[in-house]
Amino acid sequence: MTYTLQEINTKAYEGNLIFLYGDDSAERSLPLGKRELELVNQRRTQAGPDDKVEKDFVVAFDRLPSRIYFVSFDSERPAAEVQETLRRMAADVLKLAERDRAKHLALAATGTLPEEVAAFVEGLTLADYSFDRFCSKERFHVEQLAVSAMFFSEDEFAAQQRLWNRIFWCREWVNLPVADLNAATFADELKSVAEDLEDVKCTVMDKRKIESLRMGGLLAVNRGSVDEPRFVVMEYDGRKLAAKESDVVVDEQQTEQPIVLVGKGVMYDTGGLNIKPDDYMQEMKSDMAGAATMASVLFAAADNRLPVHLVALLPLTDNRPGFNAYAADDILTMYDGTTVEIVNTDAEGRLILADAIAYAVKNYHPRVIIDAATLTGAAVRAISTFGIAAMQQNAGRDFSMLQLVGNEVYERLVEFPMWKEYDELIKSDFADLRNCGTTPQAGTITAGKFLAHFAKDVPYIHLDIAGVAYFSKPQHYYRAGASGYGIRLLYAFLQMQ
Ligand SMILES: [Zn+2]
Repeated sequence: MTYTLQEINTKAYEGNLIFLYGDDSAERSLPLGKRELELVNQRRTQAGPDDKVEKDFVVAFDRLPSRIYFVSFDSERPAAEVQETLRRMAADVLKLAERDRAKHLALAATGTLPEEVAAFVEGLTLADYSFDRFCSKERFHVEQLAVSAMFFSEDEFAAQQRLWNRIFWCREWVNLPVADLNAATFADELKSVAEDLEDVKCTVMDKRKIESLRMGGLLAVNRGSVDEPRFVVMEYDGRKLAAKESDVVVDEQQTEQPIVLVGKGVMYDTGGLNIKPDDYMQEMKSDMAGAATMASVLFAAADNRLPVHLVALLPLTDNRPGFNAYAADDILTMYDGTTVEIVNTDAEGRLILADAIAYAVKNYHPRVIIDAATLTGAAVRAISTFGIAAMQQNAGRDFSMLQLVGNEVYERLVEFPMWKEYDELIKSDFADLRNCGTTPQAGTITAGKFLAHFAKDVPYIHLDIAGVAYFSKPQHYYRAGASGYGIRLLYAFLQMQ
């Protein structure tokens, strides 16, 4: 879908029109005939069978050869709730437009706030993406959306589009099977994107380099694979950039202390020698969603020149049972010297993340480390697919900020405890730590606890995105497949810095 901002005279508009209507006081300026208006008013005021008035609805009016998709919503609610409703209704409108084979759409509104219109366009955009590069039959997509110019400036709108574009790329990478995107090709792809962005530095470390760094976790997980691992380091310093442009003196300490984003990049997870049973292996191409998310966040920040200093650390490998695959009972020595007893080779994500977190602690002076990882099935069992299971250590303020913006953009997180009692569950008789808890209970928390060990006293936030990175079934404005969930959250967090 391509976008234009333009003046739209709604009453005289002849093409397909989407019209948003949330505030009753705007009734006079609706582009509706008398009967249509009566119908809308009736639905907005009369209680249904359950005695409730339902103001949120979409109705399509024929204006052959075109249509009006009329979107009524209730604006008398908290802003975040209104905006999420609009995102979801946008997905419904898109389905109608696709049914009607409407190639061109125009969007106008009255009595509506710019952020409400923005949420609607966002929903429409996110719902439009589909992973269809392998389908022989081309699927129908709306080609063009003209948005009423009264709501945004060109710059604001362009910045939004760049963010959505990064969400698409994240989804595309996650949706690609490992046969089409392994650690090496993903690293190459990231490098080539970084090269197009003048302010992003990208270093790709190969197996030999990773060996010289003694990243025991990443190397162990990679041992059963024919594909080599990669460790990708990307850096973007928007503070220096902002200082250069505005001659403002930067706070050197702030500049030196980056926000470090760590993303789990298990390109495919078979479980390793503890191979996944039955159909649990399906969709495991999505086990690199954390890495794709963090790369996309850094790219979006660079696209829109946010004044933040970011480092992204992405350990990439697949987890296979081949050759000399690492095994339960192995004891690994990690990048920071911690020894880890392997209990289950399917708990591999935390091993590669631990090396990356320790690398951040040793080589940067992070203001905060944030990781994103499709880490535990336990996170999905705890909160289903409605948000992120999250934990923090020494990072209360940043965590509160993340929660706040998460509620605003509707990519929410819930805090799990870091109680010291959980430490007992990851103690090993033979090494410093074990990679799985001694009980199957609290699997999300023991994983977070394991990782927090490697952050030492650096402020640390763990985002377990196992429930939200990839949807088996369509969910509102997500089609089945990769979601890019977390990018809007982290981008909004960076905007607040
Ligand atoms: Zn696993």
